[in-house]
Amino acid sequence: MSASTRYHIIGTAGHVDHGKTVLINKLTGINTDRLKEEQERGISIDLGFAPFKLSDGSMAGVVDVPGHEKFIHNMLSGIGGIDLVLLVVDVNEGVMQQTREHLQILQLLQIPRGILVLTKCDLVEEDWIDIVEEEVRETLAGTFLEKAPCCRVSALHGDGIAELKQTIEEILDELPPRDEDGPTRLPIDRHFTISGFGTVVTGTLLSGRIKVGDTVEVLPPGETVRVREVQVHGEKAEVARAGQRVALNLAGLERSDIMRGAVVATPGFFTQTERFDARINLIKEAPRPLKFRDPVHLHMGTAKVTARVALLDRDEMKQGESVLAQIHLDSPLVAHRQDRFIIRSYSPMTTIGGGQIIDPAPAKHKRYRDDVMKALTELESGEGSFIVQKLAELGCVKLKELEQTSGLGRERITALLENLAAADQVSRIGDQWVTVETARAWQRVLIETVESYHRENP
Ligand code: GDP
Ligand code: MG
Repeated sequence: MSASTRYHIIGTAGHVDHGKTVLINKLTGINTDRLKEEQERGISIDLGFAPFKLSDGSMAGVVDVPGHEKFIHNMLSGIGGIDLVLLVVDVNEGVMQQTREHLQILQLLQIPRGILVLTKCDLVEEDWIDIVEEEVRETLAGTFLEKAPCCRVSALHGDGIAELKQTIEEILDELPPRDEDGPTRLPIDRHFTISGFGTVVTGTLLSGRIKVGDTVEVLPPGETVRVREVQVHGEKAEVARAGQRVALNLAGLERSDIMRGAVVATPGFFTQTERFDARINLIKEAPRPLKFRDPVHLHMGTAKVTARVALLDRDEMKQGESVLAQIHLDSPLVAHRQDRFIIRSYSPMTTIGGGQIIDPAPAKHKRYRDDVMKALTELESGEGSFIVQKLAELGCVKLKELEQTSGLGRERITALLENLAAADQVSRIGDQWVTVETARAWQRVLIETVESYHRENP
């Protein structure tokens, strides 16, 4: 892959004080603890960002997350869009509580790749590091990091940093590029007003491109605005591409109109929803089973909302179980098919599970209904059946509408529709699509109507 197309985001994870911020400083030259309070207290509270120059000259972005349990919600708003995680473990302490919680979150969000980084290796003997590595490996067994490379570093003295850089580059080289031709989607993780300059929002561009002068939609609230200026990694740019850290100056938007968690998107493409259908997993370590309509905190992208979980085929789900459910949100979110989210218990707040969206805009379901469960299982099983299912539900649908509900790009949908049409499952009427079943039913009604008319008016 050429250097110019390699835009990826690296994230940190790990317990507080295990050396994440100092490590990022060593790798990038940037102190990500930018808040005054952070520098005074010496701990990360909010997300920090740093551009990371790779040996071929291209830039990756680094998101430094806070490790302290009080700031997990900030950690969650930064970790969603990353391609590669550095799981940082201090060799003096080994695996700690937030090492475990962060690992669970990474696992639930299905972060693609990771590196285990053992820090502060200057403080202990080599034998000790071997023991710690073994202990950490035990914790990682069965997770996506089971076979992850391990780098031993001292951010203080610089030992192992060059090897870590090389390992990072090797992994980034193997990652597929982000979808630059897909819809624009940038979940906002920070926003502020600069007097005389207007509103600025920042985030990781997950897919698409944003150019100066573009019209974009910010939702919630669902307002269309113009992009006055684009910055990539803190420098002015004409265009921002998927996988880059981006700041946008938006014209005509009040600061009070936006919040962390809102999304900058291609106008008309995404919808806000107050409920969605999902498969949810309750982790084995959750303190108690999850009951019907239990309140939870739901984190998706950079957003955090309270929600209730409507279990559809049971009154209670046990730890370690995976079920289909309808989630009712207390305030609207941009949700997309296949998006992943985290759920945390209402009080005390701990991570209890996560899930993946099956249908971002479903009807309200009745419980204990075989037809509902069957339809959801079908929706989950594939893109083709999702489309057939949606068409069956909605009747006559335009391509654009299908694009919005499925979250698939126009090209992908067109290809799927053509396949489905060839398999005689859907057909086209003008600029709309229907299932063959619906079309046949309509045909029958039409013929019957005409026949009965002829009978009555021979
Ligand atoms: P974070 O909470 O994970 O971001 O941890 P920090 O990066 O803020 O580091 C916490 C403390 O560990 C600081 O006092 C650092 O100076 C210290 N520290 C970090 N890396 C190293 C290292 O490689 N060697 C030693 N001796 N100390 C380190
Ligand atoms: Mg830190």
